[in-house]
Amino acid sequence: MMKRKYGLRKLFKPNTIFHFSTSDALLSNVFEGNTTIKEILKHGDFGIGTMNCLDGEMIIVDGKPYTVRTDGKAYEVDDLERSPISVVTHFKKDYSFNICTPIKYSQLIEKINSLLSTQNIFYPIKIIGEFKYITTRSIAKQSKPFKLIEDLIKDAVKFNFTNIQGTVLGFKSPSFIERIGVPGYHFHFIDKERKVGGHLLDFEMVTGRIEYAIARDFHVKLEDSEIYDNIDLSESKNDLLQKIEKL
Ligand SMILES: [Zn+2]
Repeated sequence: MMKRKYGLRKLFKPNTIFHFSTSDALLSNVFEGNTTIKEILKHGDFGIGTMNCLDGEMIIVDGKPYTVRTDGKAYEVDDLERSPISVVTHFKKDYSFNICTPIKYSQLIEKINSLLSTQNIFYPIKIIGEFKYITTRSIAKQSKPFKLIEDLIKDAVKFNFTNIQGTVLGFKSPSFIERIGVPGYHFHFIDKERKVGGHLLDFEMVTGRIEYAIARDFHVKLEDSEIYDNIDLSESKNDLLQKIEKL
C-alpha cells in the first residue's frame, strides 16, 4: 500500500462535501469513472460510493477506503483504482448522542429527523454501535456489455450479520439533490475489524453513538469521459434511483 498524504486537507473546511459524478450518470450505465481513490481521498476521509464496474460497495472510514464485494467481505482499495461515483467529506462532528436501549433503524431515523434543524442542507452522519442484526447488500462486479442497472440490481447479494460491532456512515441529503445523489439517508456499513460490510438496508442497534454535522458547502465534479459526454441526461432518473436504493 502506498503512503497517503493529506496535504490538501487544509484547503477545505471540515464537512465540505464533494460529490464525484452523479446518480443520473450511474443510472445511465456510466459504470467507469476517471476519478482515482487518491483524488477522492484528497477531498475526504469519510464517505461512500462504488468502484469501477460496480465492484462492490465502497466506504471510506477514518481515511481508509474499502469495497465490500458480493462475498460480503471488505477489501482495502488501492490509491490508483477508480470510481464512477462517490460522495466524501472531511468529517468533523458538530453534534452527538448515545443510544443505550435497543433501537431499530427506522426508529433511529425518526429520532435523527426530530433533531435536525432543517431539511434543506446536508448532514454527514456516523453511527458507531453494537448491532443485534444488520442487513446489507452488495452488487456484483459487471463486465461489458453492461446490463441495465434495473436488471443487474436483481442479482444483488444480501447479507445478514448478527451480534456485530461496527460503523455505519453516510449522508442525509435534501430532496432537491435527486438527479445528483441519493435524497434522504444513504449509508454503508463496515464492521469493527474491517472485514465485512455493505450498503445498509436495515438494522437493530443495541447500543451506540451517533455523530453528525452540518454541511452547507456542496461541490460536484462531473465525469470527464466521452461516454459521459454522450449520454442523454435530459430526464430525471429519480424513480429508478428510489427503486434500486431499497433493493
Ligand atoms: Zn450505497
